[in-house]
Amino acid sequence: TSIAAQPAYSEGAARLLQRAPALFVNGEWVASSHDKTLAVVDPSTGKEIARIADASDADVDRAVAAARAAFDDGRWTGLPPYARARLIERLADLLEAHNDELAELESIDNGKPMALSGGYDLPRCVATLRYMAGWATKLAGQTIEPAMHPTGTFHSYVRREPVGVCAQIVPWNYPLMMAVQKIAVALAAGCTIVLKPAEQTSLTALRLGDLVAQSGIPAGVLNIVTGLGETAGDRLVRHPQVDKIAFTGSTEVGKIINRAATDTLKRVTLELGGKSPVIVLPDVDIASTAAGAARSIFANAGQVCIAGSRLYAHRDVFDRLLEAVADNARDWKVGPSLAPDTRMGPLVSQEQHERVLSYIDAGRKAGASVLTGGEALGGDGYFVSPTVLVDVKPDMTVVKEEIFGPVLVAQRFDDLDEVARAANDTPYGLAASVWTRDISAMHRLTAKIKAGMVWGNCPSGADIALPFGGYKQSGFGRENGSQGIEAYLETKTVSILL
Ligand code: NAD
Repeated sequence: TSIAAQPAYSEGAARLLQRAPALFVNGEWVASSHDKTLAVVDPSTGKEIARIADASDADVDRAVAAARAAFDDGRWTGLPPYARARLIERLADLLEAHNDELAELESIDNGKPMALSGGYDLPRCVATLRYMAGWATKLAGQTIEPAMHPTGTFHSYVRREPVGVCAQIVPWNYPLMMAVQKIAVALAAGCTIVLKPAEQTSLTALRLGDLVAQSGIPAGVLNIVTGLGETAGDRLVRHPQVDKIAFTGSTEVGKIINRAATDTLKRVTLELGGKSPVIVLPDVDIASTAAGAARSIFANAGQVCIAGSRLYAHRDVFDRLLEAVADNARDWKVGPSLAPDTRMGPLVSQEQHERVLSYIDAGRKAGASVLTGGEALGGDGYFVSPTVLVDVKPDMTVVKEEIFGPVLVAQRFDDLDEVARAANDTPYGLAASVWTRDISAMHRLTAKIKAGMVWGNCPSGADIALPFGGYKQSGFGRENGSQGIEAYLETKTVSILL
């Protein structure tokens, strides 16, 4: 199948791509201490389009020192919470005003269709900042009467204080959205930040630096270093002046980070991988359920931690449902990120392209049948067709491992206990969806599923006000909502003898 050519970049985007590699430290763009850079590739074309700095240890140290100073001198923490909220809202306004520019940059860099970056990622960034700005003025402690002393002997209270300097390390699948989801909450809590975007997709995070500078948020509160995980990321994780690590990425790297952060006992929150089940009971409307199941795995080309990658359909509807899912899959127009009719873009990188294709190949060799898709699509970009695999067995790698691509594996089941066991038969526990009109079966299943998020009759219901995170090896800690802000606060108990 032929893939259309990537439309020309806008003049504004072309200009941004020409910028010299730099790091955002203490409110200014600074050159790296060495001249190492990394290539930025447009996954729709496979061509290098820009270069970014590959931060050295000295660069990371400089960014941490800036964040440390900004935290310790109170230029952010010491502001009235209302002033902090106003500045976060101003950043939201700036992102909103730059919606189209940032969406184009994101699509060029990550490969996701403009409809997704401009219509979902960017508006969600803006909403996240505004929602978290609201928390800045609503953080509250508690007064508690001590239990072991006569009433009134002590005045005891609990203060909530920002945890300090936060290193925030984000992945490439929702580059700006993941970055903003992390910085918004840290800013609201009064923390200062060193943000490290993924090396594959740093462009929008860098542009964010410009907007932060314009917003009036004081210099040094948010610093941005681009670079590799094993070098810049690792330096951040081990840095004694960093108080907290917030990481979103693979389970493999999450384990490395958790171990590395142990020496300094940093606060760690981890949002990791998933292999989320989509469970379909026999009473559903086939067409809408098939469309939902397809969206759950093909949106963002399956590069979604909460992607519904394992479909379990009741035996009575399996064949009809799978036929409808396959039909739906064929309707997903695959194309370059900037083409207006593209519904599914390329995968983010050559590495990811090879990884996904090798999983499909392994599935085939192990005896899975390809119901639809299963191939690389033409051109130099990293395209893969929406793929559905059937005749799979629980022990196949395509069923057990996170593929992080547009590949669905489908299996049959007969009863609720059986499907709950199968759904939970994974080291992951991030999300799940259940599709049925039977309210009692819905509640019975949602209670049995070991996952941090369960959605009923929809492919995903992640919301900025609702806790987001996983059970088991999908990580720990929650982002968003009130639990999200908790993760950025320390608790101080004060007891004064009267
Ligand atoms: P990754 O773990 O390879 O990289 C993520 C980030 O960590 C990048 O910025 C990278 O530079 C950095 N990193 C890598 N090694 C590091 C190290 N040793 N020390 C410090 N930092 C290091 O993941 P990826 O390939 O970029 O993203 C895909 C994975 O992320 C998938 O497994 C997916 O499920 C997961 N993910 C999870 C969520 C969630 O919220 N749970 C969201 C998006 C992606």
